Amino acid sequence: MKSNWKDSEAKKLKGDLLKLRVYTSRLLGNNEDLVMHGGGNTSVKIKETNIFGEEEEVLYVKGSGWDLATIEAPGFAPVKLSALHRLAQLDTLSDVDMVKNQRMAMTNPSAPNPSVEAILHAIIPYTFVDHTHADAVVTVTNTPGGKKRIQEIYGDKILIIPYVMPGFILAKKIYEMTKNIDWDSIDGMVLMNHGVFTFHNDPKISYEKMISIVDASEKYLKKQGANAIKGKGKGKIDGLQIAKLRKKVSEVWNKPVLAKLDRSASAKTFSELSDVAKITSRGPLTPDHIIRTKRTPMMVSDSPKKDLEQYVKNYKAYYKKYNTGEQTLLDQAPRWAIVPGSGVVSFGPTVKHTRIIEDIARHTQRAIFQAEHLGGWKALGKGDLFEMEYWSLEQAKLKKAGKPKSMQGKVAIVTGAASGIGKACVESLIEQGAVVTGLDIAPAIEGMFPQKEALGIRCDVTSEKQLKKAIDETIATFGGIDMLVSNAGIFPKSARIADMDGKLWDKSLELNVTSHQRLLQLLIPYLEVGFDPAVVIIASKNVPAPGPGAAAYSVAKAGLTQLGRVAAMELGGKGIRVNIIHPNAVYDTAIWTDEVLQARAKHYGLTVKEYKTNNMLKVEVTSRDVADLATAMLGKTFAKITGAQVPIDGGNERVI
Ligand code: ZN
Repeated sequence: MKSNWKDSEAKKLKGDLLKLRVYTSRLLGNNEDLVMHGGGNTSVKIKETNIFGEEEEVLYVKGSGWDLATIEAPGFAPVKLSALHRLAQLDTLSDVDMVKNQRMAMTNPSAPNPSVEAILHAIIPYTFVDHTHADAVVTVTNTPGGKKRIQEIYGDKILIIPYVMPGFILAKKIYEMTKNIDWDSIDGMVLMNHGVFTFHNDPKISYEKMISIVDASEKYLKKQGANAIKGKGKGKIDGLQIAKLRKKVSEVWNKPVLAKLDRSASAKTFSELSDVAKITSRGPLTPDHIIRTKRTPMMVSDSPKKDLEQYVKNYKAYYKKYNTGEQTLLDQAPRWAIVPGSGVVSFGPTVKHTRIIEDIARHTQRAIFQAEHLGGWKALGKGDLFEMEYWSLEQAKLKKAGKPKSMQGKVAIVTGAASGIGKACVESLIEQGAVVTGLDIAPAIEGMFPQKEALGIRCDVTSEKQLKKAIDETIATFGGIDMLVSNAGIFPKSARIADMDGKLWDKSLELNVTSHQRLLQLLIPYLEVGFDPAVVIIASKNVPAPGPGAAAYSVAKAGLTQLGRVAAMELGGKGIRVNIIHPNAVYDTAIWTDEVLQARAKHYGLTVKEYKTNNMLKVEVTSRDVADLATAMLGKTFAKITGAQVPIDGGNERVI
């Protein structure tokens, strides 16, 4: 591990202690091998003058809910050091009292709650204190004889702290252990099964001590032959197996969740290890991961249903054994699963969740793999882990999220997604909390959606091969498919039947109807294991009210409508709804340029505005209006409706 400290950057901060604290906190936070997703904490002690003109020392410690990678000055909670010192001298202190008294000692009431390690930071007598859960160090401690190995690596330059519960108990333990110690004689502290502390009055030295301590453990692992996971992994993905697994896990979790498949070579290789079930049954990398990942992943065999039942049974037994009567049973759904040959799957209600789990799982796999070279992975005992998992202060971290959006955890595919109605559908669905794969033949689709909730795939929907690939990609990224907006289409140039070009006719039928049938056919097995599965077909006003010169279009759209009606009948028994939209006069699409609009309006002797609102309600119908209707049809409002055809046209005499 290398130091990322830059004198030139630090110089710009002109000795401002809090700014320097932000700077090195981010250096630590941006290294995944040190901390991940809100783990770890840092502090700085600053002398300040209060409103009465008195000087007092204030501990600025990472606030709860902030991430070291992105922390800013307001992310540090200022707490009077004298109050924290007094708390450290108490014999016992409940979590509730700790949180309350720390808040009362803050010099800014609108700052976030201080980290649960605030008291510990306070008793370390240096300006800067850094704490990480460094992979390499924790990996060494999580082995048989881990303590001996740490002594071997660091000698007496490191104080070794046996595992105790974080929070007041840990602060108290260290307070007692360091009463008679010469702090200057040690470089830092290694907390068994937990992490590392370093400290100094100079932020650079404190940070670089952390780096060199971690570097020593990394070198030790290397010397022992405990390298990163090697191998290509040979497995293939069974998309339907992943979709079924996601459905089952969602049922246990009691809400739709996403599943993300890590297909990297290391994940595949790990999943193929002969003893993978055994080595992953022993527990997480560091205790604070347990609130995100649970104690163990689930192993998937040929029968995911049975595997999950076993997982739930084991979880309930673990709860029964360790709960003291004060804890309420949490959901029993696994957060990650090993699918031998395919890789590792992470579950979560949002993309952000699945990514956090995947990151933690990846680091855990490496740690387990390396520890096996050192005599075996030996995580913290179940009792200690249970205490951590059900610790109210940890649970509070997860409860911050507000009410979920109506389509959270659900997955949609939208075709023709690079413009007009299709693009608006992607945006409308994401606003409701869904994740969406947008397909389009236009290359622009690939970079079109900056949101991580959207996956843009370039795809010719008339090619079965390309459709299959897009489905596989969707499953690997999101875990299932619940909804389809079958929208891709073309409006061929106007031609009377007498003058019809055969190629034009064929192309319209191929794209406007046959490709929809093919995609629906491919998706039925996935929709069958989806959540409240539903399909919306974007047809046209030309179905109920055709016009001359549009035979190629109208016939295809009529066929598409009929496809939807038959699908509603065939799929109703499987709980899959199919509804149809007939839009008309949607002018905010690529084909309706200003020139075309002006020409058409002139043709009818109307202004462009009159032309656009030439309907009963005198309103302009936009792509977004159609998209919001499609989203409503996929959602709860249409939960008991199938086979319906809804025009969206501002009112049209011929349609009514
Ligand atoms: Zn920690």
